[in-house]
Amino acid sequence: MSTSPRAERLARARKEMADRGVEAVLVGPSADFRYLTGYLPPGLERLTMLVVPAEGTPRLLVPALEAPLASEHLGDLEVDVLAWEETDDPVALVRDALESAGIARGRLAVGDQLWSVFLLRLQEALPGASFTVASTVTRSLRMVKDAAEIQALARVAAAIDSVIDGLADLRWAGRSEREVARDLDAAIRATHDETLFVIVGSGPNSASPHHVPGDRVIRPGDPVVVDIGGRLDGYGSDTTRTLVVGEPPAEFIELYEVLQRAQRAGCEASVQGVPAEAVDAACRQLIAAAGHGEHFIHRTGHGIGLEEHEDPYIVAGNTERLVEGMAFSVEPGIYRQGRFGARIEDIVVCTAPAGLAGSSAAPESAPGARRLNRTSRDLRVVPG
Ligand code: ZN
Ligand code: ZN
Ligand code: ZN
Repeated sequence: MSTSPRAERLARARKEMADRGVEAVLVGPSADFRYLTGYLPPGLERLTMLVVPAEGTPRLLVPALEAPLASEHLGDLEVDVLAWEETDDPVALVRDALESAGIARGRLAVGDQLWSVFLLRLQEALPGASFTVASTVTRSLRMVKDAAEIQALARVAAAIDSVIDGLADLRWAGRSEREVARDLDAAIRATHDETLFVIVGSGPNSASPHHVPGDRVIRPGDPVVVDIGGRLDGYGSDTTRTLVVGEPPAEFIELYEVLQRAQRAGCEASVQGVPAEAVDAACRQLIAAAGHGEHFIHRTGHGIGLEEHEDPYIVAGNTERLVEGMAFSVEPGIYRQGRFGARIEDIVVCTAPAGLAGSSAAPESAPGARRLNRTSRDLRVVPG
């Protein structure tokens, strides 16, 4: 990332800080850190902390042994790098930085995932300060993706789609979930920087949304839910497809057909201006009407970006309105405990209604959100 988008993000963060009465943002290694600087330092027991005051140059407190690495990554971004030595007290240095800026008694926004060991020491060192979470400032910025972020999400979605395209080439019947999961992990690592998760739930395990692949051997007639994701250039992928090995139970075909319509309805509902909960309702209504309401046991989706799960959450009760540039999953599922289940998941980007008028009838650009995952949502049948 060149300096200007980073400088722009810092400027937007500062505007948000002013609006919310925050005098400094203090973040450790995290998605917020990466968002603001383009760099993700190692998150270890030695304190690394970016201090962004409402006014003045941001400071990065960093262990001396990591200072050259940090400076290299920050490049020409305007940040003062303060390297602390093994015998220094880094928390005292943070306090000194805030005192010299005259904001040691101010309202400080600390990283949502900052280790409690650091937060407790900061609170002890800064008795006059008040504390809130950094997402107070960063949430609204990170929730709406800029053009570079949408490109990154589209790239990582294409990478995971290439793994999905390979599902038909894998052998399923007679192998354990764990064996298949190992193949998928290798395929994800071949196309991403790292694997984030691999869910392979076969037969009755397909009814467990977060099933951990185990020793169960996949058999003819099994539905299999495959939910996989990786990270590429900082951004996450996350997609789910359901397949059947050989001939599926008749009831399963009916269930899948309902699910497919529901997932499509959710994507079509994901337009600017509608409340997030309306996307959940669009999926849920169809599933409930088919008599499966009680078998759709989780929210419809989650935002995605530098984190696998982030705002906005697509869930009943979230009345926040969707805005062009928001990226999130649409992943309804139907789970019949002890029998079988299915889920379909795509990452979509909310688009403005005006942009839709001229779109073609291709499924990926049908009315609604832009789907980043483009593999077929039809039920996949692999040899039994
Ligand atoms: Zn999940
Ligand atoms: Zn998923
Ligand atoms: Zn997901």
